[in-house]
This record gives sequence, C-alpha cells and structure tokens, in this order.
Amino acid sequence: MNLHEYQAKEIFARYGIPVPQGQLASSPEQARAAAKQLGGEKFVVKAQVHAGGRGKAGGVKLVEGFDAVEETAKKMLGTQLVTKQTGAEGLPVNSVYVEKPSAIARELYVSAVVDRSKERIVFMASAAGGMDIEEVAEHTPEKLKTIAVHPAAGLQPYQARELGFFMEMSKEQVDQFTKVLSGLYRIFTELDAALVEINPLIITGEGNVVALDAKLNFDSNALYRQKAIAEQRDYSQEDEREREASKYDLNYVTLEGDIGCMVNGAGLAMATMDIVKLHGGKPANFLDVGGGTTAEKVTEAFKLITKSPDVKAIFINIFGGIVRCDLIAEGIITAVKQIGLKIPVVARLQGTNMEKGREMLKASGLKITPVEDLTEAAQTVVALAKSA
Ligand code: ADP
Ligand code: MG
Repeated sequence: MNLHEYQAKEIFARYGIPVPQGQLASSPEQARAAAKQLGGEKFVVKAQVHAGGRGKAGGVKLVEGFDAVEETAKKMLGTQLVTKQTGAEGLPVNSVYVEKPSAIARELYVSAVVDRSKERIVFMASAAGGMDIEEVAEHTPEKLKTIAVHPAAGLQPYQARELGFFMEMSKEQVDQFTKVLSGLYRIFTELDAALVEINPLIITGEGNVVALDAKLNFDSNALYRQKAIAEQRDYSQEDEREREASKYDLNYVTLEGDIGCMVNGAGLAMATMDIVKLHGGKPANFLDVGGGTTAEKVTEAFKLITKSPDVKAIFINIFGGIVRCDLIAEGIITAVKQIGLKIPVVARLQGTNMEKGREMLKASGLKITPVEDLTEAAQTVVALAKSA
C-alpha cells in the first residue's frame, strides 16, 4: 500500500526527518489560502498522485504569487496525471501540496528495501539524486552504495556515516544525514514499510539536509496491525479491478493483453501466463482464485475479467485438488449465463471429477471449449483471441 507524498512527509516530520513546510489543498481556493498561510513570494505546487516522475510530467511547478498558485492548482486538479511510472491512463489529481521552495545545492538519493537474498534491510544511497535511479543502477552502478543492516544490531551510526561520506557530505551534513537515516530505519521497522525512498534528498543553499520528496510503501500483510497507516489509504489511486478483487480474496493484477486468465494457485497462474505468451498471446491479467476456490469466487472472477473491454477470450486453467472440477464447471456455467458472456472461453479442468466437469461444460450449450492438454488449450485460446 502506498501513501501520498504529503502523508509520507507528515510521517517523516514525526520521525525527525526535515521536510519543507507545506499544506494540502483540494481546491484552487484552498491552494491560495495555503500559500497565504505559508507566506513568502514563491511556492511549489505538487500534484498528489501515487507515482513518481511528476516533475518531468508537469506535476511539480515552481510559481510566484498567490494568483499563480491558484491558477496552477486549477490546472492540475481534476486531471489525470500521466508519468513514466503510471499507466497510459494516468492517475487522478484530487489534491495538490503547496510547499515552500527550497534552494537546492545538491540532489541526492536514499532508499531502503528488504534484500531477500541477504534477508536484511538494505539502504542505498547515491550522489546522483533527482533522476531515474534505475538508470544510475544500470549504467553507473559505482555511483550507488548499499549497506545491509543486521536485524539484531539495527542500523549503526557508522553505517550512516559511510553512506554520508560516500555522497561527499561535510561532517555537519553527515551528522544530519545520520538522523535522517535512523528516522527512515525506525519508520521501516516500526511501521512495517516495504520501501522508503527520498529522491531527492537535498543539500540546501545553507548546507542543510532536507527531504524534498517522500515515498513510502507498506507491507499489505501487516496493515491489520498498522491501523493508522491503513486509514490513510487512497483508493482513488488504485486500480478499480484490483480493489474489487481484494474484496473477494482474489489475487488479481491488471495487465495489457487480451486473454483473460482464471487460474487457481499463483504458480499455476504464472505458468499459464507463460504458456499463453509462448504461443504468441498476451494475458490481460494475472488471476489466482485460490486453491480451495468456490463457485461464487469463480463468478466474481468472471465479472472482474470481463470488466475490461480489451479481453477477447478467456482461458480457465483449474486444477481440482482441494476443489472438485464439477463444482468449478457449475460455477463457470452459472457465471457465463449470469453475465451473458459473449466472448469464447477455453476451459482446462484437471483433477478430481474432471470428466464430470467436462461433460457439464459440453452439455451446457454455451461458448465454452473444454481442452485437456495444456499446450493445446493455450494454442486454442490464442487462436480464438486473434480471430476475434
Ligand atoms: P517526482 O519525483 O514525482 O518528479 P519530486 O518531489 O521529486 O517529484 O520533485 C521533482 C523535482 O522538483 C525535484 O527533483 C526538485 O528539483 C523539484 N522540487 C520539488 N519540491 C521542491 C521544493 N519544495 N523546492 C524546490 N524544488 C522542489
Ligand atoms: Mg522525486
């Protein structure tokens, strides 16, 4: 789960990480009032969406005067902001953050994630901040330094100093940076974060260390014990279908292809997507209905898949281990009838009661093709999608 920049900065401030003064606004008038309260001549107006790359996409503007703040907010609010990190549709700008501008001497980068192979939280830092850090990692990896934190010892001040000096900070700045890093580490561990990132972390004109941007992502599996974080969730920034799916306990991810996939088990779902691709097709989604799926879940899954107008054919690949294939067949038939599905369905049911399941599908008189062999099933669905 992600937070907005303004929410992340509130948390930063609580954990002793310096951030610019700012105020949230969800109307142009509020933006003007926010600027007045902040005071001064110049302001930065920042679109609040769950994506980076706003600067280059026109979502971060430095302006002068209250009129300009109001004008800029008016232009941003209500639009869909498309950045390198959003899909082609972009994300809705429902609020802007009005900030005091900082004088920037240097733009640095710092982040923390869990390195699964090391089984540790790692911090990454670079003097090449403000830009695409993936590019830095790929083309100039020597500009990026990583340290791993021992879970029993916690982040050690010497590790923070190591990163600080690597970024060529002065001694005073290293001291400030050590506080920033220990704040980030506490946020990471106390709030069950999955990613914390400051890009850019700046050195101001006066030589101080300030977080100019803030990105926080939390472990969804820990939200049950992070109520204050969970309450700040902004559903408008999330894929509608993915949100719907989570209500029914379906693991669903929207993709860009035209073959809807309905599978039980994440491993089988991955393999199904692979084989669809292998035979020249493109999956429209990843969908794991779960090992012990029910007819109701199958119906909800159908509704989700068919919400996308791009879906030209549906591939059902279910292994009846915990669940029986005849129950799944029943679910498929009910769902197809209920939704009034027009597009072709290829169903591969394997496992308990599979013969019975297949018979039911055949006898249904609906546009459902039962196929036993996985390769043949994939080829059939790809052909159906192409000819649609
Ligand atoms: P994004 O990562 O989405 O592009 P950032 O918050 O990193 O958004 O802002 C992009 C750029 O805009 C920063 O690299 C910085 O140069 C500038 N910027 C952002 N906030 C401020 C601010 N308060 N004062 C001065 N410049 C800013
Ligand atoms: Mg940024």
